[in-house]
Amino acid sequence: MKNIYSNIYSFNKKILKKTIKSMKQGNIASLPTETVYGLAGNAYSNKAVNKIFKLKKRPKKNPLIVHYYNYSDAKKDVMFNKNFVKLYEKFCPGPVTFILKKKRNSKIVSCVTANLKTIAIRFPSHKIMRSILKKIKFPLAMPSANLSTGLSPVSALDVYQEFKEKLKIIINGGKSKIGIESTVVDLTEKPKILRPGIISPKQIKSILKINFSKKKSLIKSPGMQKKHYSPGIPIVIGKKPSKVDEAFITFGKKYKKSSNFFNLSKKADLKEAAANLYQVMRKIKNKGYKKIFVSNIPNIGPGIAINDRLKRASK
Ligand code: AMP
Ligand code: MG
Repeated sequence: MKNIYSNIYSFNKKILKKTIKSMKQGNIASLPTETVYGLAGNAYSNKAVNKIFKLKKRPKKNPLIVHYYNYSDAKKDVMFNKNFVKLYEKFCPGPVTFILKKKRNSKIVSCVTANLKTIAIRFPSHKIMRSILKKIKFPLAMPSANLSTGLSPVSALDVYQEFKEKLKIIINGGKSKIGIESTVVDLTEKPKILRPGIISPKQIKSILKINFSKKKSLIKSPGMQKKHYSPGIPIVIGKKPSKVDEAFITFGKKYKKSSNFFNLSKKADLKEAAANLYQVMRKIKNKGYKKIFVSNIPNIGPGIAINDRLKRASK
């Protein structure tokens, strides 16, 4: 198929070089990850990081996750601890973000962490991300490639829909396999999950062999904002619509097919449902529906993350 979008590129050596060159000059690009598509820029450059905040219309008090190739790259900027090492060995590279203390002499520009002494770091597993991170000498600050509070993009076309020609480079890495944002774990003191994701609290507990802190986190963080991940139309959870011009998101085989019904997973697989969540919501929005109803999703494993996003999207 011919590419009609001049800023969407398939991945090859030429675009790899072009992207790196552009990022070295302080520009930003949209890159695919296994969770969702990101808006990436040099985390050591004020120019690049300011561009990210501006394009996304993201409030400056919301810190960005910093992405590294591996442990030794991150060591320059971050103070590690035992819990981090255990989780890194088990889950990285992969869909989990760690909050740790930032090193005093780190070159991360202060607006990345919203002036906090803590830093959020992740090691993405997507092949394209890894080949870029391996080649550059700076980490990438990278939030999701969407306007603040909106739906995260899970394809290059979703990113295009958000920013059109305002981005010079969008790399097409196929549909994001996981489809929802990373699990965020605060490891600065007693471990605590700040944002649920595909890697579940149970999996993390089994590695750390501890219970999570129940204390309210003092850290202000974007995924903690009440309204987030929103398709921009009202969402009602746990009810069926009464009109055909209202969309219904279903799960499993309980409801028969109907033109306004959208199934997250016919086989009632929560992982599949998570991977389809944003795509289905975007489709519903694009079709012009004015309201979304959602059937109950079991609150276990990936269901915890799905319900977290739905709840915030409904605010
Ligand atoms: P997002 O960029 O929307 O995927 O969200 C970033 C997530 O990282 C938020 O949910 C926060 O929990 C977390 N976060 C990022 N930076 C920090 C930081 N310095 N301290 C605490 N939490 C952070
Ligand atoms: Mg986001």
